Amino acid sequence: MDIISPLPGERQSMTPSGIEVVEFNLGRGNIGANTMLHSYEWTQYAEDISEYNRPVTNPNTARCIDGRPFASIGPITDPAQLEEQVLYQLPGGVGLATTKALVAANARVVQGKNFRDAYEITSSLLLQLPGGGIIDAGHHACGASKFVKKTAEEAVRPSEVGEMLGAIMTIEGKERAILNELFDHKKALLENGFYDEWDAASHEHFLEENFPDNFARLRVPADTSDGLDGHYEVGLFIAENGGFAKNAAFEGTGKMTFAYSNELALKLANTLGTSHEERVKIYLAFYDDLVNLGGIMFANGFPIMTDMKPAHSLQHMFN
Ligand SMILES: [Zn+2]
Repeated sequence: MDIISPLPGERQSMTPSGIEVVEFNLGRGNIGANTMLHSYEWTQYAEDISEYNRPVTNPNTARCIDGRPFASIGPITDPAQLEEQVLYQLPGGVGLATTKALVAANARVVQGKNFRDAYEITSSLLLQLPGGGIIDAGHHACGASKFVKKTAEEAVRPSEVGEMLGAIMTIEGKERAILNELFDHKKALLENGFYDEWDAASHEHFLEENFPDNFARLRVPADTSDGLDGHYEVGLFIAENGGFAKNAAFEGTGKMTFAYSNELALKLANTLGTSHEERVKIYLAFYDDLVNLGGIMFANGFPIMTDMKPAHSLQHMFN
């Protein structure tokens, strides 16, 4: 087993197949509070869950990172068919996650008059991308959609985002400067009322109207009096490549897991950025959003598992 030196405030461990487990120390939410694994269980769980990180069955969409199993995706309700799905996952689905990254990065490709406008532009822009386009997706009662404004209002200090991300990628001076810019830009947009028009119900309605075959319902228990709406995730898996077989993972491990697909974030940053600087910025904006959303939703100490190679220099990953 590899020995690695822990970063300040984080307990880290490495599994036999090289999956790193990092403790998320910015959590202010309640997901995982009652289902937290002991840290001695992390490496085995990381190994178990990595079995469900597989090549995607459909490269032209991304679902939400939400760990609750699918009850349906569009017309598909058959449990066996749902278990076969291996999909990319980004917070809120591909349209919302990409909009948040483009908006925070102040990317030239999308300049909406408010967040809702920027989202609708992004959702149709994705459809026009080469290779058949990227089809927007989402689900009923999505936390990522509900917390769009809150992630800007309660944005974590950039130095803390950098420290957290430093555990999974190389964060140096240039990256820290970008995280500062993302923070300042989101705060400026917030003050200008940019996020005020957005609400999760209209987002759902938009998806049901425009992408009915790609709108999902997730399994939520009848009794939600614990305030968790069926969120019993025990960790977040960030996969360098491929997607996540969410229902198969739940059936196989008996546990729910958030999963995030680096491969698609990287591809979208490369495709939508109009300069080297913008591509790096959009890519970091995807991760900045993940950390901020995690801060709102995850309990402190939530484990993040990743097979990302931290030696990557972001400056050399992009053209
Ligand atoms: Zn969601």
